[in-house]
Amino acid sequence: MKGMTMNYVYAFEDGDGKNKKLLGGKGANLCEMTQFGLNVPPGFVITTEACLAYLDNGSSALPDGIMDEVRVQMQQVEAKTGKGFGDADNPLLVSVRSGSALSMPGMMDTILNLGLNDETLKGEIAQTGDPRFAYDAWRRFIQLFGKVAMNVPDELFDKQFEEVKAQAHVTEDVGLSADNLREICDRFLKVFEKHTGRPFPQDPYEQLEIAIQAVFRSWTGKRAVDYRREFNITPEMANGTAVNICTMVFGNRGNDSATGVAFTRNPATGENVLFGEYLVNAQGEDVVAGIRTPKPIAYLSREMPEMARQLEELRQKLEEHYHEVQDFEFTIERGTLFCLQTRNGKMNAPAMVRTSVEMREEGLIDTAQALLRIDPTMLEQMLYPRLDNKAKAKPIAQGLPASPGAATGIVVFDADRAEIMGKDQGRKVILVREETKPEDIHGFFASQGILTSRGGKTSHAAVVARGMGKPCVAGAEGIHVDVARRVAEIGEVIIEEGDLITIDGSSGNVFLGSIPMVEPDFTEELNRLLRWADEESRLKVMANADSPTDARRALKYGATGIGLCRTERMFNAVDRLPTVIEMIVAENSEERQAALDKLLPIQRDDFRELFEIMAPRPVTIRLLDPPIHEFLPTENQLEEDIARLTHLQESVDGMSVLASSVMLLADPNEARQTSDYLRGMVDASLVTRAIEKKEQMLRKVRILTETNPMLGHRGVRLGITFPEIYAMQVRAILEAAADCTTRGLDVHPRIMVPQVCTHEELRLVRKAVDQIHKEVEQASGQPVHFQFGTMIEVVRACMRADSLAGDADFFSFGTNDLTQATFSFSREDAENKFLPMYNRIGILKDNPFEVLDVKGVGKLMKLAVGWGRELKPDLDVGICGEHGGHPKSIAFCHEAGLNYVSCSAPRVPVARLAAAHASLRPEGFFNDR
Ligand code: ADP
Ligand code: MG
Ligand code: MG
Repeated sequence: MKGMTMNYVYAFEDGDGKNKKLLGGKGANLCEMTQFGLNVPPGFVITTEACLAYLDNGSSALPDGIMDEVRVQMQQVEAKTGKGFGDADNPLLVSVRSGSALSMPGMMDTILNLGLNDETLKGEIAQTGDPRFAYDAWRRFIQLFGKVAMNVPDELFDKQFEEVKAQAHVTEDVGLSADNLREICDRFLKVFEKHTGRPFPQDPYEQLEIAIQAVFRSWTGKRAVDYRREFNITPEMANGTAVNICTMVFGNRGNDSATGVAFTRNPATGENVLFGEYLVNAQGEDVVAGIRTPKPIAYLSREMPEMARQLEELRQKLEEHYHEVQDFEFTIERGTLFCLQTRNGKMNAPAMVRTSVEMREEGLIDTAQALLRIDPTMLEQMLYPRLDNKAKAKPIAQGLPASPGAATGIVVFDADRAEIMGKDQGRKVILVREETKPEDIHGFFASQGILTSRGGKTSHAAVVARGMGKPCVAGAEGIHVDVARRVAEIGEVIIEEGDLITIDGSSGNVFLGSIPMVEPDFTEELNRLLRWADEESRLKVMANADSPTDARRALKYGATGIGLCRTERMFNAVDRLPTVIEMIVAENSEERQAALDKLLPIQRDDFRELFEIMAPRPVTIRLLDPPIHEFLPTENQLEEDIARLTHLQESVDGMSVLASSVMLLADPNEARQTSDYLRGMVDASLVTRAIEKKEQMLRKVRILTETNPMLGHRGVRLGITFPEIYAMQVRAILEAAADCTTRGLDVHPRIMVPQVCTHEELRLVRKAVDQIHKEVEQASGQPVHFQFGTMIEVVRACMRADSLAGDADFFSFGTNDLTQATFSFSREDAENKFLPMYNRIGILKDNPFEVLDVKGVGKLMKLAVGWGRELKPDLDVGICGEHGGHPKSIAFCHEAGLNYVSCSAPRVPVARLAAAHASLRPEGFFNDR
C-alpha cells in the first residue's frame, strides 16, 4: 500500500481487491478494476471494520478519525477530477453505495448525486448549461437521501412527482421540463422538512456523514437481517457492509449518454456474446426500476458504434482478468465509457456447463477451474424435465419436493390400474395414493410420477421414486384420496380418475391440467465436462440400477458399472409375484424348490440382460435382502379377503338354489337354459380354492410376523435358513454370465451378500457359491469369472472387517443401514419424530440419513477399510446407499480411500463432478467436516 497509513478508508488505487471481507465485494472489485486499468470513476472505500466499530458503538457516532480519513481521500478525488466537493463553480458529486462481502441484491440502497445543495446546484447548471439535467439530479438526490438516510417514505415523494406530472400533462418522466423538475425539487424539499423536522442539510460533508451512517445502519435493518437468515449467511461469510464513495458520472447528459447492465456471456444459455440492456439518457437506477423499457445491448452498435466497440473491449478485459463470467454495470457520459461495478455472473446449470467448457477451450481457465466453478448438485437441474418458467400456473396443492423433476399425466388411484393404463395402454399416468407400499412397485414402473397425501421425504414413495429417478410429491396433506370412490378432493376441487394433473417434484407443487415442460438435455458440453471430471477423479462412480431401463440410463450418464442391483425389485414384478408367493408359502423344501425352479430362468434372463447392457463393466448383484413377508399382503388385507370370499361362497350356494328354483317357475326349455347360465356364473370350487390359498398365506404371514423386521429374519440370515433361495439366485447369475461369455461378451458379475455380521455367515455362502460355480463351469465347459463380496452395513461387520476380507473380494458400505445401526435410530421414526428438532437446536448438524455422519459412521468406515486392507491390500471398497450421490459424502469417501461410490442413475453426473472436486481440492480440505 502506498500513501499514508489508513485504518478505515482505502482509495480505489490502494485497496486489496482480494479482500472482500474487508472491502465488500463491490468495493474490492472497484479497487481491482481501477488497479488493472479500467475506467472507473475515482473514489474510495470505507471498510466493513468501520461498520462493525460504528455498530459496536451503539450507532451513535462514526468512530474517531473516520471523517478525517474521508476528507483526505476526498481531496485526492478532487485532485483527480479537478472538481471541488461543495465547490459552487465546479461541484464534485458522488454516490454513496453499500456493499458487503456477499452480494445481497437490493438490500441496501445507494444514494446518488450527493454533494448537491442550493449553491452547487447553480454551479452544476452553469457548468453543464443544462438546467433540466441539474434539477433532475437534484430531485433524485433529495428523494434518495430522504428515503435512505432519513427514512422519509417514498410514497410522499412519489405523490408530489405524480401531481406535477399530471399538471404538466406528461406521461413519461423524460417529458418533464426543467421548470417541472424545479417545482418537483421545491416540493421534495418541503416533504423532507415536514417529515424530518429539519431543513435539508446544505453542507456536503454533513450529507456525507449522515449517508455513511445510514448505510452502516442498514446492515442491521430488518430487510438485511431477514435476507441473511433466509440464505444462511453467517458472520464468517459476511460481516458488516463497506461504503463506497464514487465520483458521479452521468448517463443522463443527453443522447450521447447512456447507462446499462450486462453479462459478459449469456447467463441463460452460456453463449459467448455480450448480453444486457441499456437506456439512453438515463441514470443507473432507471434500468433496474423499469421506468422505461431498456434496449438490448446488440442495438448499441447501431446507436453508438464507437461505444459498442469499447464495451466489447471492456468485456474482454473483464474476462481476461477475472477468468470468470462477469455481471457488470456501465455508464456512458458524453462519449466516455465508465465501469461502475462487476461481480461473478450467476447462471443456470446449462450456462455454467457451457461457459466452463468454452472458457477452458479458449484457454481462459484450466481444467481444474472449469470443474471447480460448478457446484455439483447444480447438474441435477439438467437431468430432469422441469416446468417451463414462463408458464405461470397456480398450484392447487402443495406437498414435499420428494424427488425432483416434473411430470404430467392422468390420475390413477392404484398400482394395478396404473399398470393397465400406463404399460398396457401406453398412457401417461400419475399414481396418486395416500401412501405407497412395496406391493405398489409395478405401479411406479408404469407411472410418470407419484403423488401421495401422506409421508415425508423418506417415505416409501419418495425413496423408491428417487431411486427410479421419477418425480414425486409426497405428503400433500391438502389432498384427500378416496380410493373406493375413485376421487381425490382438494378443498372444493374434485379430481376424478382420468383427470389430467401435473406434479413438480422439485418444488412440491401440484397443478390441474398439463403445464408446459422443458426436456432435460444431456448436452455434448456436459459430456465433455464430465469426461474431464473422470480424468481428475480417483473415485469411480457406479450406479444403483435394478432394471434394464435404469441400467441404460446409468450408462448414458456415465456410470462405470452397477454398484447395487436389488433383486427384490425383480421379485415384485406382477408376472413373478405369484411364483414368489408360492415359494414363500411352500410347506416343505420340495414345494419351495418347485417354485424356485420356475423363478430360475426368469432371474437368469434378468441378469443376462443387465450383463449385456453393461458389458464390459461390473454388475454388482445383491442377493435377496428384505424379510420375505414383505412380498405377502398384510394380515389385515388377507383377513378381509377371506371374509369377502366367505360371503361370496354363501352367494354361490344361493345361486345354485336359485338355479334349481328356476325349473319351478318357467317353461322347461327356457328354464334349463337359465339354470345352466346361473350355474355357470361362478365355479363354487374356485371360490373354495381361493379361500384355501388365502388361508395358507395368512398362516404364513402370521408365522413370519416380526416385531422388528428391519433387525429380523432378512439378508444373509434368510439365505442361510433357506439356502435354496440364494442357491437359485447364484445359479441364475453364474449361468447368465456363462451364457454371455459363450457369446463372446466380456462380463463381470459381482455377487454381494447383505447384512453379514460374522465371518462364518460369509464363509457358508461362499462355499455354496463355489460349489455352484464349479457346476456351472463344468456345464458350460469354460471358465466363468465372478467376484464375491459383502455389504458392510452392521456395526459388527465393521469390527470384523479384517476377517471378513479373507473371504471377500470387495466391501460395499450400505450406509443407510449402517447409519441406523450406528445411531440405533430407526430411520422413519427418527425423521418423523425427533430428528427435525435435533437439527433445529443443533444437537445434530445434518440429517445423518442424507449427509453421511463422518464423525461416527465415517469413523467406523475408516476403521473397516483399514482393517480390511491390512489383510487384503487390494480390497475393492465402495459405498452404495443414498449417501453415495451426495457431494459432501463423496468427498469423505475420497479421503477415506474408497475405490468407488454408487448412487441412483440421475445422481451419477453429480457424483462424477463431486468426485473430481474431491481430487482437486487441497489435502485436508475436508478435515473439519
Ligand atoms: P446496487 O448494489 O443496488 O446495484 P449500486 O451501488 O451499484 O447499487 O448503484 C445503483 C445504481 O446506481 C447502479 O445502476 C449504478 O450503476 C448507479 N451508480 C452508482 N454509483 C454511480 C456513480 N458514481 N455514477 C453513476 N451511476 C452510479
Ligand atoms: Mg449495482
Ligand atoms: Mg441394507
